[in-house]
Formats: sequence, structure tokens, C-alpha cells
Amino acid sequence: MTQRGYGGPLRYVQGPGTVADIGRYAAPLGSRALLIVDGFFWDTLRPEIEAALTQAGVSAVSLRFGGESSETEIARCVAAGREHGAGVVIGLGGGKALDTGKIAAFHIGARIVTVPTIASTDSPTSSLGVVYSPEGVYDRVVRCGRNPDVVLVDSELIVQAPARFLASGMGDALSTWYEARSNIESRSRNYIGEGYAASIGGYAIARACHDTLMRDGRAAFAAAKAGRLTPAVENIIEANTLLSGLGFENCGVSAAHGIHDALTVLEPTHHFFHGEKVAFGVLCLLVLENRPPEEFAEALSFCRDLGLPTKLADLGLGDVSATDMARVGEAAMLPGSVVHSVPVDLTARKIADCIVTASALAEGGSA
Ligand SMILES: [Zn+2]
Repeated sequence: MTQRGYGGPLRYVQGPGTVADIGRYAAPLGSRALLIVDGFFWDTLRPEIEAALTQAGVSAVSLRFGGESSETEIARCVAAGREHGAGVVIGLGGGKALDTGKIAAFHIGARIVTVPTIASTDSPTSSLGVVYSPEGVYDRVVRCGRNPDVVLVDSELIVQAPARFLASGMGDALSTWYEARSNIESRSRNYIGEGYAASIGGYAIARACHDTLMRDGRAAFAAAKAGRLTPAVENIIEANTLLSGLGFENCGVSAAHGIHDALTVLEPTHHFFHGEKVAFGVLCLLVLENRPPEEFAEALSFCRDLGLPTKLADLGLGDVSATDMARVGEAAMLPGSVVHSVPVDLTARKIADCIVTASALAEGGSA
């Protein structure tokens, strides 16, 4: 692979009260908009956004997001967008509302604005959208071909959400640099277009994501728990949303996400957020790649301080059987799993053994 490639959103704007500027950012993209709003904000934020769009000369039709980024929900949004002749789709809410907006815009051929209301995933910046069944079971990833035109992040809105979302976003962001390194070492393709080698820029952003988490993560968590918007919180919102999103898309993910996906074959893990499971996956990845003990200790102490899971017991798997762990190992090894981008040879047995060992190391016991 001789070509390197980089991609990202055209604009990223973050700050307190930013959502009030929606008209200024949407108007240059199209005079007719489809607005997809998370149910939680239907009565509160929607009227304000509609008024701001009208004032900017954008005619908007609003849909209340159904809660799941399913084929049916996407089709409903596509139909509404086509009927209105929408040139821009604006998604407001959590990862699933934004993914629905991105995929709908892709089908309509419209521009995209994402307005995240929590900082728990890197969906707002990415060109990928995830489809689930109406019951919420993972189905597939859609490559939307382009990143959002504008990512509008209102930090005042985000700091009002429960701090568990911000911590979970940090768990997801924690994986970014370790997984970027896996991909660089294994010379895997990134997720830009059909896949290129990672660029210096992509790797530097992934590293900046890690440094920001280590510097500001704990202070941001303490402030966010009290609903306070400090510079550390602003930095962590950017790390979780922009740096993590650009880092993973431009470098690739590996075993922290692969083990996350495999762990979902065990029902008790369904009660945890994506970033919480990924955080535990990071510890497993470090054991799998046999990284220096100082790296494991740094990630472990970070996760502990944020209340992120570090042991199987923290994910409801305290008494998991050897048979179930073998199933997880098998699931991780399926062809197409992102686990294969680690720079080490893999077997299902090795993956299962590394997961159990990471958990034992976090217990402080002998592995
Ligand atoms: Zn993730």
C-alpha cells in the first residue's frame, strides 16, 4: 500500500451556547433542511433550533427520532427528507440519532450537520454509521462516503448530561492511540474511502487524544460530575469527539474494539455503554500485544479513577465459565473482525486467555 490518506469533517465548532448558531452553519449548506431530534430534546431544544433556522432563511421539517438507528427508521427519515427536498440533514442527539442522520443524508445526497448532545462516542465526526435491528442488535456499518460538513458541539449542553457519558467517551477515546499503534505496526488500512495507509497527521491526532486524556481526564470528570464547565472539560469534549473520531478513522481500530464486539455475545455486557466495554478491551489489548507493564498500569489507574470497568466482574461476568470465554475468543476470531489488525499472531484460545489475564491483573492477583 503506497498511498496514504486522510479525511475528516469540513468544520468542527465547539463552545458553550454554540447550538444557537445553527442557522449560520446550516444556511450555506442548503435552504431546506431535515431536522432529526432525539426525543429527549423534542420539547426543550427543538423550538429554539427551528426558530434559529427560520431566522437564517432555512425551511426545516422536524422528525422525532424513534430511538434506534434501524433500516425502518432510516427509511422514514429518507422519505421525509425527499418529500421536503432537503439539501441538508441536521441530526441532534446521541450516537444513534446522529448515525441515522448521516445515513439518511447519504441516501438523499444531502449535506450533513451533527449536533451531539453527549460526548460518549466519536460518531459526530465520523463518516461511518452503524445500523441496528429494531430491537437494538448490531447489524452492520455503513460507509457514508463523506464526513459531516459541520460538527456543532455545544459544551454547555454536554456538561448537563450525566458524567457517566463523558467517562464512557473517555473509555472509547482511550482506545484510539493504542489501536492506532496496532494498525501502524501491522500496516493495516484506515477507514478513509476504500482504505489507505495512515498519515502522519492521523497518527499525531491519535497521540494528542491520549495525551489530553492523561492530562485532563480526571479533572474533567470531577468537574462534569458537578455540572461545571472548566477548560479541562472542554479539552475532554474535544478529545472524545474530534480527536478520537479523527484518530480512529484515519488510523483504524484493533483489539480493544474487537474484544468489545466479541464480549457482546454474553448477555450481561449489554447493560454497559460502548466506551465502558472498550475501556476494558484496552486492558486486554495491552496484554495481547504484551506491552510494557507501565502502560498497563497507566491505563488501569486511569480507568479506575473514572469508574470505568477494569475486570470481568465489573461487566457482570464475575463467574463467567470457561466455555463462555471460549465463545468470546471464537467470536473475536471471526473473519472481518477488527481484532485482526493487531501486529501479533492470534488464536481464539490466546484472546480468551488474555482477557482473563487482564482481568486478573486488574484484580491485583497473580495472573
Ligand atoms: Zn468506539
